Amino acid sequence: MRKNIVAGNWKMNLDYEQGLSLFSEIVNMVKDEVRGGQEVVVCSPFIHLPSLAKLGNSAVNVSIGAQNISEHASGAYTGEISASQVKSTGANYVILGHSERRAYYGETDELLAKKVDAALANDLKPIFCIGETKEERESGSFYEVIKTQLSKALFHLDANAFKHIVLAYEPVWAIGTGLTATPEQAQEVHAFIRKTLAEQFGQETADNTSILYGGSANPGNAQSLFSQPDIDGGLIGGASLKSRDFLQIINVFN
Ligand code: PEP
Repeated sequence: MRKNIVAGNWKMNLDYEQGLSLFSEIVNMVKDEVRGGQEVVVCSPFIHLPSLAKLGNSAVNVSIGAQNISEHASGAYTGEISASQVKSTGANYVILGHSERRAYYGETDELLAKKVDAALANDLKPIFCIGETKEERESGSFYEVIKTQLSKALFHLDANAFKHIVLAYEPVWAIGTGLTATPEQAQEVHAFIRKTLAEQFGQETADNTSILYGGSANPGNAQSLFSQPDIDGGLIGGASLKSRDFLQIINVFN
């Protein structure tokens, strides 16, 4: 059965000490709360990863992730960080395809397919983000957009790879805007994503893949979103920077 996952995306926030201190608070608070079928992931800036991995080791079900990797294995790529370097810090996850990387750094589905391969080859689990813009939602083309993102970046894989992939539906118009998809709107798209996975990889793979919702999720709306049948948790931006809010979201599953 698929896991419930609550993943925090710290984005480019928190200096080194601030990150350690927030993570310690999170670990202390979730230690006794996280149940067996659930996983908590904290995706921090690169600078925090080795220290967080050490702190996280003692806490059950709290994993660490990065927010990007290079598509290359090693070499003359100044400023880049490879999947194996991230893995060597103790991290287990990496966010790929976030709309901010697509919009500000020109990441295409073709590039993302290579990053997914690099992650999987190094035993890092991609949290792969897909989602439509406001214009695409309003024009009604969003199902097509989402199917294209999935097929271009992930359809070259075999079903087995999905044991190591988490999907996140993040409507771009809801990220950091305070606008949230209604539980019904989100459920409709999550069901479509699962159906698309079933058509391509079989029902078992579709049923076992966790699909998270992301976009202005907070303690006030997490319960109604996560209670939808095809929503298996959340990718949380702003609210993951406040330990109490993050814990309240995690506790929806308890
Ligand atoms: C995100 O960055 O993935 C995100 C969902 O952000 P927020 O929760 O702040 O909308």
